[in-house]
Amino acid sequence: MRKVAIYGKGGIGKSTTTQNTVAGLVEMGRKVMIVGCDPKADSTRLMLGGLAQKSVLDTLREEGEDVELDDIRKEGYAGVLCVESGGPEPGVGCAGRGIITSINMLESLGAYDESEKLDYAFYDVLGDVVCGGFAMPIRDGKAQEIYIVVSGEMMAMYAANNISKGIRKFAQTGDVRLGGLICNSRMVDNEKEMIEKFAEKLGTQMIHFVPRHNDVQRAEINRQTVIAWNPEVEQADEYRALAAAIDGNKNFVIPKPMEIEELEGLLMEFGLLDAA
Ligand code: ADP
Ligand code: MG
Repeated sequence: MRKVAIYGKGGIGKSTTTQNTVAGLVEMGRKVMIVGCDPKADSTRLMLGGLAQKSVLDTLREEGEDVELDDIRKEGYAGVLCVESGGPEPGVGCAGRGIITSINMLESLGAYDESEKLDYAFYDVLGDVVCGGFAMPIRDGKAQEIYIVVSGEMMAMYAANNISKGIRKFAQTGDVRLGGLICNSRMVDNEKEMIEKFAEKLGTQMIHFVPRHNDVQRAEINRQTVIAWNPEVEQADEYRALAAAIDGNKNFVIPKPMEIEELEGLLMEFGLLDAA
């Protein structure tokens, strides 16, 4: 089983991209579990047709330790297994702890057992938390394969660079690796070329460029992934391509984070290309 964590700045599109990509993996016949780690508990909304899931932390709080797998894990779209770890309210406590508690609970209840026949567990992780708890799934070896969702916007690239620092730190003692950057376009000038260059500098690859498209919102209002909502549209093929790229990925590295000056230089170089 591959344990994949999706990181990136808040609002960059982690939950959307994860679920849409998982829909692509499911089409390929893969069995997937999604574990969300966000106090918003919206990592599985498109799989469950709404926010139907009670979080692990809430369940533990209300029902004590005597929890069963079915209390915290629900089957959603095409058999995808959905868990929301929940988390502390913003500013209170450590967001990373929620996901560790959840993963430990899932492990002890047998969610990762051979008999579950899982091909993938995806962790949708709140990525720009300053407390450092965000690194817990990496530190504790719960995820081996990381993808960072990024765009050509400066803050998204800063966050991706910081996340790379976190991965590098723990990769040296563990087996966690960066599998690539997913560019979720914000239609910034020269975005594709810039993120390709950024990926190269980090020592990784841009695994896919996902265009910005309103069909993502159209599907979202219907509480569905694009593939479930309308499998014929072009955006559905983008997520299929990303799913296939992840499924066939062989490029796993210890990233080399950039110095801030160098990162700003990259932004300037590509941002000024059109003006020149
Ligand atoms: P995160 O999980 O990183 O906080 P979300 O997945 O919730 O971010 O995405 C934030 C918003 O961006 C969502 O409402 C989603 O519809 C929108 N979005 C994400 N990716 C795309 C895209 N490729 N095209 C259009 N809208 C997108
Ligand atoms: Mg999210």
